[in-house]
Amino acid sequence: MQKIRTESLTGIVLRSISVGEADRLVIIVTRERGKFKCLARGVRKPKSKLGGFLEPMHEVLITVQFSRLYPIVKDVRTIGVLNEISNNVPHYLYLMYIAELLESFILEDETNLEIFDLYKFVLKTFNNAHEVNMLILFFQLKLLMLCGYGPELSACVECRSLLNAEDQYFGFVQGGIICPRCMVGIRRTQYVHIFEMNLQYIKLLRLSQRETWNKLQTFKVNSEDIGKLIQIINDYITYVIDRKLKSARFLEFGHI
Ligand SMILES: [Zn+2]
Repeated sequence: MQKIRTESLTGIVLRSISVGEADRLVIIVTRERGKFKCLARGVRKPKSKLGGFLEPMHEVLITVQFSRLYPIVKDVRTIGVLNEISNNVPHYLYLMYIAELLESFILEDETNLEIFDLYKFVLKTFNNAHEVNMLILFFQLKLLMLCGYGPELSACVECRSLLNAEDQYFGFVQGGIICPRCMVGIRRTQYVHIFEMNLQYIKLLRLSQRETWNKLQTFKVNSEDIGKLIQIINDYITYVIDRKLKSARFLEFGHI
Protein backbone atom coordinates (compact mmCIF):
# COMPACT_ATOMS: atom_id res chain seq x y z
CA MET A 1 0.00 0.00 0.00
CA GLN A 2 1.23 3.48 -0.85
CA LYS A 3 2.26 5.60 2.13
CA ILE A 4 0.32 8.84 2.56
CA ARG A 5 2.68 11.79 2.25
CA THR A 6 2.14 15.09 4.05
CA GLU A 7 4.15 18.26 3.37
CA SER A 8 4.21 21.79 4.77
CA LEU A 9 4.84 24.42 2.11
CA THR A 10 5.13 28.19 1.84
CA GLY A 11 2.96 29.55 -0.92
CA ILE A 12 0.91 32.39 -2.36
CA VAL A 13 -2.69 31.71 -3.36
CA LEU A 14 -3.29 32.58 -7.03
CA ARG A 15 -7.01 31.85 -7.10
CA SER A 16 -9.62 29.43 -5.87
CA ILE A 17 -12.68 27.87 -7.46
CA SER A 18 -15.82 26.76 -5.59
CA VAL A 19 -16.36 23.04 -5.93
CA GLY A 20 -19.44 21.09 -4.80
CA GLU A 21 -21.37 22.29 -1.73
CA ALA A 22 -18.60 23.63 0.48
CA ASP A 23 -15.17 22.85 -1.02
CA ARG A 24 -12.67 24.97 -2.89
CA LEU A 25 -10.02 24.03 -5.39
CA VAL A 26 -7.07 26.29 -4.62
CA ILE A 27 -4.36 27.13 -7.15
CA ILE A 28 -1.21 28.07 -5.30
CA VAL A 29 2.40 28.86 -6.20
CA THR A 30 4.86 27.59 -3.59
CA ARG A 31 8.56 28.05 -2.87
CA GLU A 32 9.16 24.32 -2.60
CA ARG A 33 7.00 22.77 -5.32
CA GLY A 34 6.09 25.50 -7.77
CA LYS A 35 2.46 25.73 -8.80
CA PHE A 36 -0.15 23.12 -8.00
CA LYS A 37 -3.84 22.65 -7.29
CA CYS A 38 -5.09 21.43 -3.92
CA LEU A 39 -8.54 20.76 -2.47
CA ALA A 40 -9.75 22.57 0.65
CA ARG A 41 -12.64 20.52 1.96
CA GLY A 42 -15.56 22.19 3.73
CA VAL A 43 -13.82 25.56 3.55
CA ARG A 44 -17.02 27.43 2.62
CA LYS A 45 -18.82 26.27 5.77
CA PRO A 46 -19.07 29.08 8.35
CA LYS A 47 -17.20 27.13 11.02
CA SER A 48 -14.36 25.86 8.83
CA LYS A 49 -10.95 26.29 10.44
CA LEU A 50 -9.44 26.87 6.97
CA GLY A 51 -11.88 29.65 6.08
CA GLY A 52 -10.44 33.10 5.46
CA PHE A 53 -6.85 31.90 5.12
CA LEU A 54 -6.94 30.81 1.50
CA GLU A 55 -7.52 34.21 -0.07
CA PRO A 56 -5.70 35.30 -3.25
CA MET A 57 -2.42 37.16 -2.69
CA HIS A 58 -2.03 35.88 0.89
CA GLU A 59 1.28 34.23 1.70
CA VAL A 60 0.50 31.10 3.69
CA LEU A 61 2.10 28.14 5.36
CA ILE A 62 0.01 25.28 4.06
CA THR A 63 0.04 21.61 5.06
CA VAL A 64 -1.18 19.26 2.35
CA GLN A 65 -1.70 15.55 2.20
CA PHE A 66 -0.98 14.06 -1.19
CA SER A 67 -3.74 11.81 -2.42
CA ARG A 68 -4.46 10.19 -5.76
CA LEU A 69 -6.37 13.09 -7.30
CA TYR A 70 -5.62 16.45 -5.66
CA PRO A 71 -3.52 17.15 -2.58
CA ILE A 72 -5.85 17.84 0.36
CA VAL A 73 -5.37 20.94 2.51
CA LYS A 74 -5.02 19.84 6.15
CA ASP A 75 -3.94 23.08 7.75
CA VAL A 76 -3.20 26.66 6.72
CA ARG A 77 -1.73 29.68 8.48
CA THR A 78 -1.27 33.19 7.13
CA ILE A 79 2.30 34.46 6.99
CA GLY A 80 1.36 37.81 5.53
CA VAL A 81 -1.17 39.62 3.37
CA LEU A 82 0.87 40.72 0.34
CA ASN A 83 -2.03 42.51 -1.29
CA GLU A 84 -5.82 42.40 -1.25
CA ILE A 85 -8.67 42.57 -3.73
CA SER A 86 -8.81 46.26 -4.44
CA ASN A 87 -11.86 48.49 -5.00
CA ASN A 88 -9.80 50.34 -7.56
CA VAL A 89 -10.95 48.57 -10.75
CA PRO A 90 -7.82 49.11 -12.88
CA HIS A 91 -5.64 47.91 -10.00
CA TYR A 92 -7.88 44.91 -9.43
CA LEU A 93 -7.65 43.99 -13.13
CA TYR A 94 -3.88 44.32 -13.12
CA LEU A 95 -3.57 42.09 -10.05
CA MET A 96 -5.80 39.47 -11.69
CA TYR A 97 -3.74 39.75 -14.86
CA ILE A 98 -0.48 39.14 -12.96
CA ALA A 99 -1.96 36.05 -11.26
CA GLU A 100 -3.31 34.65 -14.54
CA LEU A 101 -0.02 35.29 -16.31
CA LEU A 102 1.80 33.36 -13.63
CA GLU A 103 -0.73 30.55 -13.64
CA SER A 104 -0.51 30.21 -17.42
CA PHE A 105 3.23 30.42 -17.67
CA ILE A 106 4.57 28.13 -15.02
CA LEU A 107 4.24 24.40 -15.16
CA GLU A 108 2.79 22.30 -12.35
CA ASP A 109 5.26 21.00 -9.79
CA GLU A 110 8.21 22.84 -11.33
CA THR A 111 10.10 24.71 -8.65
CA ASN A 112 11.35 28.16 -9.54
CA LEU A 113 12.27 30.20 -6.51
CA GLU A 114 13.08 33.30 -8.56
CA ILE A 115 9.55 33.37 -10.01
CA PHE A 116 8.06 32.94 -6.54
CA ASP A 117 10.18 35.83 -5.24
CA LEU A 118 9.29 37.98 -8.26
CA TYR A 119 5.56 37.48 -7.67
CA LYS A 120 5.92 38.23 -3.95
CA PHE A 121 7.93 41.35 -4.71
CA VAL A 122 5.42 42.67 -7.26
CA LEU A 123 2.46 42.11 -4.91
CA LYS A 124 4.23 43.87 -2.05
CA THR A 125 5.39 46.76 -4.22
CA PHE A 126 2.17 47.24 -6.20
CA ASN A 127 0.28 49.60 -3.84
CA ASN A 128 3.22 51.95 -3.44
CA ALA A 129 4.46 51.90 -7.02
CA HIS A 130 4.68 55.38 -8.48
CA GLU A 131 4.03 53.98 -11.98
CA VAL A 132 1.90 50.82 -11.75
CA ASN A 133 2.17 50.45 -15.55
CA MET A 134 5.93 50.31 -15.30
CA LEU A 135 5.72 47.60 -12.63
CA ILE A 136 3.52 45.49 -14.93
CA LEU A 137 5.99 45.83 -17.80
CA PHE A 138 8.83 44.97 -15.40
CA PHE A 139 6.91 41.86 -14.27
CA GLN A 140 6.13 40.77 -17.86
CA LEU A 141 9.77 40.98 -18.96
CA LYS A 142 11.30 39.46 -15.84
CA LEU A 143 8.82 36.58 -16.02
CA LEU A 144 9.58 35.99 -19.71
CA MET A 145 13.28 35.92 -18.91
CA LEU A 146 12.91 33.55 -15.95
CA CYS A 147 10.83 31.19 -18.12
CA GLY A 148 13.44 31.24 -20.89
CA TYR A 149 11.48 33.45 -23.32
CA GLY A 150 13.22 36.79 -22.72
CA PRO A 151 13.35 38.64 -26.08
CA GLU A 152 16.72 39.48 -27.67
CA LEU A 153 16.98 43.27 -27.46
CA SER A 154 20.68 44.04 -28.01
CA ALA A 155 21.37 42.71 -31.50
CA CYS A 156 19.31 41.78 -34.56
CA VAL A 157 18.06 38.19 -34.14
CA GLU A 158 18.56 37.54 -37.86
CA CYS A 159 22.03 38.98 -38.73
CA ARG A 160 23.40 39.37 -35.15
CA SER A 161 24.65 42.89 -35.89
CA LEU A 162 24.36 45.50 -33.15
CA LEU A 163 21.45 47.88 -33.60
CA ASN A 164 21.94 51.28 -35.22
CA ALA A 165 20.16 54.36 -33.89
CA GLU A 166 17.09 53.91 -36.10
CA ASP A 167 13.62 52.38 -35.83
CA GLN A 168 13.60 48.58 -35.61
CA TYR A 169 11.05 45.74 -35.55
CA PHE A 170 10.09 43.19 -32.90
CA GLY A 171 9.36 39.73 -34.31
CA PHE A 172 7.44 37.25 -32.14
CA VAL A 173 8.45 34.24 -34.24
CA GLN A 174 12.08 35.36 -34.20
CA GLY A 175 11.98 36.19 -30.46
CA GLY A 176 13.48 39.67 -30.56
CA ILE A 177 14.55 42.72 -32.52
CA ILE A 178 14.90 42.56 -36.32
CA CYS A 179 16.90 45.30 -38.05
CA PRO A 180 15.37 47.19 -41.05
CA ARG A 181 17.75 45.46 -43.50
CA CYS A 182 16.73 41.95 -42.41
CA MET A 183 13.09 43.02 -42.34
CA VAL A 184 13.21 43.32 -46.15
CA GLY A 185 13.59 39.56 -46.43
CA ILE A 186 10.76 38.66 -44.02
CA ARG A 187 7.72 37.03 -45.59
CA ARG A 188 4.45 39.02 -45.56
CA THR A 189 2.64 36.21 -43.79
CA GLN A 190 4.71 36.90 -40.68
CA TYR A 191 3.76 40.59 -40.50
CA VAL A 192 0.92 39.84 -38.10
CA HIS A 193 3.55 38.92 -35.49
CA ILE A 194 5.86 41.85 -36.16
CA PHE A 195 5.67 45.28 -34.55
CA GLU A 196 7.54 48.45 -35.34
CA MET A 197 9.73 49.61 -32.49
CA ASN A 198 11.17 53.06 -32.05
CA LEU A 199 14.37 53.54 -30.07
CA GLN A 200 12.52 54.73 -26.98
CA TYR A 201 10.44 51.52 -26.90
CA ILE A 202 13.57 49.37 -27.23
CA LYS A 203 15.29 51.33 -24.47
CA LEU A 204 12.30 50.86 -22.13
CA LEU A 205 12.17 47.12 -22.83
CA ARG A 206 15.90 46.76 -22.23
CA LEU A 207 15.72 48.65 -18.96
CA SER A 208 12.75 46.58 -17.76
CA GLN A 209 14.53 43.39 -18.66
CA ARG A 210 17.93 44.23 -17.16
CA GLU A 211 17.49 46.62 -14.28
CA THR A 212 16.27 46.20 -10.73
CA TRP A 213 12.99 47.85 -9.79
CA ASN A 214 14.81 50.46 -7.66
CA LYS A 215 17.01 51.46 -10.57
CA LEU A 216 14.11 51.43 -13.02
CA GLN A 217 12.22 53.93 -10.89
CA THR A 218 14.97 56.51 -11.34
CA PHE A 219 14.27 56.77 -15.10
CA LYS A 220 11.71 59.22 -16.39
CA VAL A 221 9.19 57.35 -18.51
CA ASN A 222 6.22 58.22 -20.68
CA SER A 223 3.07 56.51 -19.41
CA GLU A 224 1.60 56.19 -22.91
CA ASP A 225 4.73 54.41 -24.18
CA ILE A 226 4.55 51.99 -21.25
CA GLY A 227 0.86 51.27 -21.94
CA LYS A 228 1.63 50.49 -25.59
CA LEU A 229 4.56 48.26 -24.65
CA ILE A 230 2.48 46.33 -22.11
CA GLN A 231 0.07 45.50 -24.96
CA ILE A 232 2.84 44.43 -27.34
CA ILE A 233 4.53 42.28 -24.70
CA ASN A 234 1.16 40.79 -23.77
CA ASP A 235 0.66 39.87 -27.44
CA TYR A 236 4.11 38.32 -27.45
CA ILE A 237 3.25 36.35 -24.29
CA THR A 238 -0.02 35.22 -25.90
CA TYR A 239 1.99 34.04 -28.89
CA VAL A 240 4.50 32.24 -26.68
CA ILE A 241 1.92 30.42 -24.54
CA ASP A 242 -0.43 30.00 -27.48
CA ARG A 243 -3.60 31.10 -25.78
CA LYS A 244 -5.37 34.31 -24.94
CA LEU A 245 -5.43 35.40 -21.31
CA LYS A 246 -8.96 36.20 -20.15
CA SER A 247 -7.90 38.99 -17.82
CA ALA A 248 -5.77 40.63 -20.51
CA ARG A 249 -8.79 41.81 -22.52
CA PHE A 250 -8.85 45.12 -20.70
CA LEU A 251 -5.32 45.90 -21.96
CA GLU A 252 -6.63 46.05 -25.52
CA PHE A 253 -9.08 48.80 -24.75
CA GLY A 254 -6.60 51.00 -22.94
CA HIS A 255 -8.64 51.15 -19.72
CA ILE A 256 -5.57 51.89 -17.65
ZN1 LIG B 1 19.54 42.14 -39.13
